[in-house]
Amino acid sequence: MRIATYRLHGQRQVGVVSADGRRITPLPLTPEQAERGAQAVIEHAVAHGRPLEPRGEAVALTDVVLDAPLPRPIRNLWCAGRNYHAHAKELSGSVFKDSAAKVDEWPIVFSKVPESVVGPHAEVHMPVGVSEQIDYEVELAIVIGVGGRNIARADALKHVYGYTIVNDVTARDVQLRHQQWDLGKSFDTFCPMGPWIVTADALDPAKSRVRTWVNGEPRQDAQTADMIFDVPTLVETCSRGITLYPGDVIATGTPAGVGMGMKPQRWLKAGDVVRMEVDGIGVIENRFV
Ligand code: MG
Repeated sequence: MRIATYRLHGQRQVGVVSADGRRITPLPLTPEQAERGAQAVIEHAVAHGRPLEPRGEAVALTDVVLDAPLPRPIRNLWCAGRNYHAHAKELSGSVFKDSAAKVDEWPIVFSKVPESVVGPHAEVHMPVGVSEQIDYEVELAIVIGVGGRNIARADALKHVYGYTIVNDVTARDVQLRHQQWDLGKSFDTFCPMGPWIVTADALDPAKSRVRTWVNGEPRQDAQTADMIFDVPTLVETCSRGITLYPGDVIATGTPAGVGMGMKPQRWLKAGDVVRMEVDGIGVIENRFV
């Protein structure tokens, strides 16, 4: 099932996308619930042990504007760094130079502020005068359903509501300048998300493919099977002594092919269009301005 947050005639709604991807049927939510996007749907599913039933008139997907499925996540998004071997290698002389020997020990985990989230087709605003090195990172993102603390790896997938795509947009110069990554990752609009959430029953996170194109040029292409720390391990890691809640997001890290890893390095510039696809989920495409 694909759960989308969208606007129709200016009003935010949440609905289920049809199997052929052409129509969307709204879910019965109050306007206040719908403002929170899929968060209300996830909380209902957790509280009642069953999903909401779509109700009302289906509309064409082409008639709505998609928002991020979680337009304002409940708190910072957890994000794995250095989670594909080839990406660990391509940045071993820069971002990962202090941790290059520790690739398999523990995941790097940082966070992005919820206010950085924008829709799957929204513009990304480059912070003029703050960064000269804007980069893209396609990532499969986990959306937590049933919360919990100290979730064992063997139980982790029972806590996953579904999956979506995020572009973990990064200002590399700011990321490196401050040692901690949050500032360089959390600029306004630096987290395009969508196009919807695919529920966990409909996607095997270990058997998908993540790709990026910049202005049509292929840049990233990897199998999620190449992750260093898989989805269950990341859920286990992020819940060690920390309670995870319904609607929490864990971005699983990006594969090789980022601009910083190219020789010479290539940064995004105004007017660039970044398209990202995760097999089994869909496509997000954002213009940088
Ligand atoms: Mg990332």
